[in-house]
Amino acid sequence: MIQRIALVTGASSGIGRATAGLLARNGFYVFAMARRKERLEEIRSDHIEPIPLDVTDVEAIKAAISHIITTKGRIDVLVNNAGFGQLGAVECVSMEAAHHQLEVNVFGYARFMQAVLPYMREQQSGCIVNISSVLGKIALPGFGWYAASKHAVEALSEALRGEVKAFGIDVVMIAPGLIKTEFVTKELELLKKVKHPPAYQKIILGLYRLLAGEPQAPGPEIIAKAVLEAVTQSIPAVRHALPWDSKAAVIARWLLGGRLFAWATRQKMRI
Ligand code: NDP
Repeated sequence: MIQRIALVTGASSGIGRATAGLLARNGFYVFAMARRKERLEEIRSDHIEPIPLDVTDVEAIKAAISHIITTKGRIDVLVNNAGFGQLGAVECVSMEAAHHQLEVNVFGYARFMQAVLPYMREQQSGCIVNISSVLGKIALPGFGWYAASKHAVEALSEALRGEVKAFGIDVVMIAPGLIKTEFVTKELELLKKVKHPPAYQKIILGLYRLLAGEPQAPGPEIIAKAVLEAVTQSIPAVRHALPWDSKAAVIARWLLGGRLFAWATRQKMRI
């Protein structure tokens, strides 16, 4: 049987690391990518090959794909996962920081999709898993730029799914809610760097309140398991939101409508 070849971005920690490990334990040969070389080396094995790169570096991505094709001859699965959360009020996040958010979370995914698709089309098979977020369908105060990036990922994924179905390629979204990884710590570090006038203090406190649940959140393994299911099922769910509150938030937004949902959010954040 031909060994399936997977590429996982953001594999140096959290969801990407858990996914690379789980795919490798289930028969995949995994190319694991991220910037921190030493963190990637920790997971090197007979089934995991690290390739350190930044998802904003077009030439590095080209070289990585060329290496995969030269050594393995195919790419069966792309897990687009590398990302971060630029917290802060829409008014206060600098344009430079906003651009960087989209560069990594949207164009980073797009670069990999464009890079693997010619090979998947030729094979007439493949699965692209884009890690979105509960904030790919709703937006909350203080998460504007991050939510914009994940809404863009959802739109691109939906359009792409229709474009490549006839080529035997599947496009799947996994939308995590709060998951215990390095993500929130990094988000809060970025938040501290944004200059907010005192008028925004309540919003900042509300953000801390919302994210205070992170230590009790599930670990990245539940998302890794969802990715494994998506790439091994013949007809995977088009969008899988988990844990349950990720699904519930989107249903609540739909049931309550915009104004009432915004009110409920402000109550929860106490803003
Ligand atoms: P982590 O911070 O633990 O992992 C993020 C990964 O992305 C790291 O491996 C990091 O590696 C990599 N990364 C970030 N920027 C770049 C870059 N420019 N180039 C290459 N790699 C990069 O967070 P998670 O595992 O939680 O996040 C994974 C995905 O899940 C993200 O897309 C996030 O938006 C999404 N998500 C997470 C949620 C959560 O609560 N944790 C909720 C909803 C969605 P390195 O720094 O070494 O480059």
